[in-house]
Amino acid sequence: MLSSRLVKEQPSTARSGLCSSRHCCVVPAHEVWVCSAKSDLGSARESTDRVLQAGRLPASKTMGQSFNSAGIALFAQIAWGNAPLALPHLSVPSIDSLDWGALARAGFRGCVFDKDNTLTAPYASAVAPALAPALERCRVAFEGRLVLFSNSAGLAQFDPEGSEAEALEAALGIPVLRHAEKKPAGSAVEAEAHFGCPAERLVMVGDRYLTDVVFGNRNGLLSVRVAPIQLAGEPTAVSLARRVEDYCVARWWRQGHKAKPHPLAPSEEALATFVCEPAVR
Ligand SMILES: [Mg+2]
Repeated sequence: MLSSRLVKEQPSTARSGLCSSRHCCVVPAHEVWVCSAKSDLGSARESTDRVLQAGRLPASKTMGQSFNSAGIALFAQIAWGNAPLALPHLSVPSIDSLDWGALARAGFRGCVFDKDNTLTAPYASAVAPALAPALERCRVAFEGRLVLFSNSAGLAQFDPEGSEAEALEAALGIPVLRHAEKKPAGSAVEAEAHFGCPAERLVMVGDRYLTDVVFGNRNGLLSVRVAPIQLAGEPTAVSLARRVEDYCVARWWRQGHKAKPHPLAPSEEALATFVCEPAVR
């Protein structure tokens, strides 16, 4: 059944007129819940932690960095009754469509970035040129409080000495978070220690629902999903996972599921202020 309905693009219900390119989509304000529920977050964390523990396989570098057993187990659990956990607060074409100043004025204190297909092409070690100005605006708005959260560099399982993280920091000029678990597993304790503020004051930006969005939502960050920079060059496993994620998310949106609202953006209007036309400030 899945294979007959795989989608390559965002659901039409998530599109807006902000951009006409293939991957451009902005979740309109009416598709976002108003959130109150820190208690909901706690119960979601407890529930998903159990699933993550059950789905975790022994760590081994030979498993390959693109295999995320805990993430797959969690996504299955989400599919069976916790769809909002995989739905971002905002979905935009790229970081160029975010008003970083508005996010800072709303009380956010820093940004956690995924790397591949969010800031760089897959496995590239340079920020995509078209995104460099937006990244600089983010850096200014948050007074340098940015960090990369990779599922390879900085991850204890794959990069125990931190050498990959150091190389990436030198190449991109952004600190790389040292952390113990792959997204979407784990807590935000490392990010909170890095920024010195609660996770609710942070923005999580990434291109994957399964990893970036779920991690952000599980831990109380504002989750922002960007369209991937390019699909070419991704491992087959990632490509397949992305297609399943796109299919599921499109279906959940059609069914009326919505992201659980964020306490610093408790209304549709508040979320809408974080989105801007690319190249228009
Ligand atoms: Mg990515």
